[in-house]
Amino acid sequence: MPGDRSNPCQGLMAAVDYDLTGHKGLVLIFRCTQCGELTRNIALTDDVHAPDDYDLILALKQKTQSSKR
Ligand SMILES: [Zn+2]
Repeated sequence: MPGDRSNPCQGLMAAVDYDLTGHKGLVLIFRCTQCGELTRNIALTDDVHAPDDYDLILALKQKTQSSKR
């Protein structure tokens, strides 16, 4: 359902990867820990109301890079 960002199963969303290939900037990829559904969220590191944890993003980068090499 386009535009519906709510998760019907209410599972916890864990950041598993990131994507820098788009033109929207840094996109975080989350996976539901209950049903495994993947969702993508643009990282809003300058959003004072709901800032994403930039340390977590950097940690994901390092983990992804090290696992790809
Ligand atoms: Zn789910």
